Amino acid sequence: MADSAQQQVRKTIHAGGEWREAVSGATREILDPADGLTFAVVAEGDEKDTDLAVAAAHAAFAGGEGDWPRTPARERADVLRRTADLLTRDRESLGLLESRDAGKTVEEGRVDIDCVADAFRYFADLVAGEAPGRVVDAGTADVHSVVVHEPVGVCAMITPWNYPLLQASWKIAPALAAGNTFVIKPSEITPLTTVALIDLLLEAGLPAGVANIVTGPGHSVGARLAEHPDVDLVSFTGGLVSGTKVAQAAAPTVKKVALELGGKNPNVVFADACATDEGFDTAVDQALNAAFIHSGQVCSAGARLIVEESVRERFVAELARRAEKIRLGRGTEDGVECGPLVSEQQRAKVEAYVESALSEGAVLRSGGRRPEPSDQRPAGGYFYEPTVLDHCHREMRVVREEVFGPVVTVESFRTEDEAIALANDTEYGLAGGVWTADAGRARRVAGRLRHGTIWINDFHPYLPQAEWGGFGKSGVGRELGPAGLAEYRETKHVYQNLAPKPVRWFAG
Ligand code: NAD
Repeated sequence: MADSAQQQVRKTIHAGGEWREAVSGATREILDPADGLTFAVVAEGDEKDTDLAVAAAHAAFAGGEGDWPRTPARERADVLRRTADLLTRDRESLGLLESRDAGKTVEEGRVDIDCVADAFRYFADLVAGEAPGRVVDAGTADVHSVVVHEPVGVCAMITPWNYPLLQASWKIAPALAAGNTFVIKPSEITPLTTVALIDLLLEAGLPAGVANIVTGPGHSVGARLAEHPDVDLVSFTGGLVSGTKVAQAAAPTVKKVALELGGKNPNVVFADACATDEGFDTAVDQALNAAFIHSGQVCSAGARLIVEESVRERFVAELARRAEKIRLGRGTEDGVECGPLVSEQQRAKVEAYVESALSEGAVLRSGGRRPEPSDQRPAGGYFYEPTVLDHCHREMRVVREEVFGPVVTVESFRTEDEAIALANDTEYGLAGGVWTADAGRARRVAGRLRHGTIWINDFHPYLPQAEWGGFGKSGVGRELGPAGLAEYRETKHVYQNLAPKPVRWFAG
């Protein structure tokens, strides 16, 4: 470990308004994926730290300083808006931190921070102008009946490493807008921007105890949060295996559970989309983006290219040609288009999938190996070349399972029905794209795809005002949009009899 990093041992656990180290004194080194070297050291919390943080959130919900749950929505919205402004103020430093922590390019890091600020502004606006409840017609003038929404209580949030702050914001912003208190556990390998956000929330005026964070591993901190009796809701974003464990751990205490899990997302290209040179170029360019942005470490990555047989060869040849030209390197270097994978473990997983695909008959059209080290690519970095695997089929593991790396598989079809059947033939259901020049076909296919987001002639954009989430094993519940706020609320019906009289059901 570098000397400078050793001096940066950080108090990254925040409970009840105070920054501290882990109770056990344990620490973890945070590695830069571009060179494998330590660039920060954080506290490695465990169950004890988790209990302290939950106790702080519990006390704050019961009516601590500032009484956040009972603060008027308009004032809560002001804190969220101030947080968004602070994020924009610190865009450059946070974007850089996200780049070094998660291995993405600095420009991707900046875009992430803009999207985080947008999430805070969206949920602020959503609650600021809201009616306080919905009056229900009880069928008599003697009854006043109203349905109101209240915060759930203490929310536990568990987040992954690919979009560390963005995924956190999709939970923190609605939870705070609704009046909850929370404990967040970021991914143990990318905690730094989430730690920074807690400071911004305090600077924006959030009362102490409302926002708490425990840095540490999933098996201790995450598992304890999921099972904790004083946690009322657990919102998890991550892989299917961990998500299933979270749901199991949460079941005995019957807490609310929201799961945003993985995906194996089809990108369906009809030949008619490629009929003109411009159409062909656009569809290939977007397929490249769908598969390789952030080195494919995106839950909604278009990792399954499903292309009409008549254009398959031309399409795949051009895709592979352009994949080979993607400039790999350290995300902070000028001109770099794609960073490394997040860890050695993640690269090893990707390599194993490519090997298994090739042994099952896939044809390698580009990549399939580590690039040569260069000035922009230190030898210790976790780089892997963008990889196109042709002639894939549904029985291959690489087609069925989430690789979460720069690997796109190619399957082909002859009819619209066949394309739909292939695209739906997955246990996941997060997102999918369809490329066609035929508007009727576009709507028909979109209507039959069993995925939470469908892009027509596009791939990847999302809107804070539109719900995000998955069908099937891609998860339970929705983030963003009005449903993303509803996750963090309980619904209460208040029925008031204005003229009470005896019922006389019982005669005695
Ligand atoms: P992961 O499941 O390994 O870890 C996610 C988080 O869960 C981490 O904070 C980890 O420490 C924690 N965790 C691990 N085991 C746990 C346990 N037993 N109990 C409680 N917490 C536990 O996932 P990852 O590798 O960090 O992230 C990649 C995955 O996230 C991919 O599958 C990706 O598709 C998914 N993801 C989904 C979305 C979405 O919107 N659906 C968004 C981003 C990422």
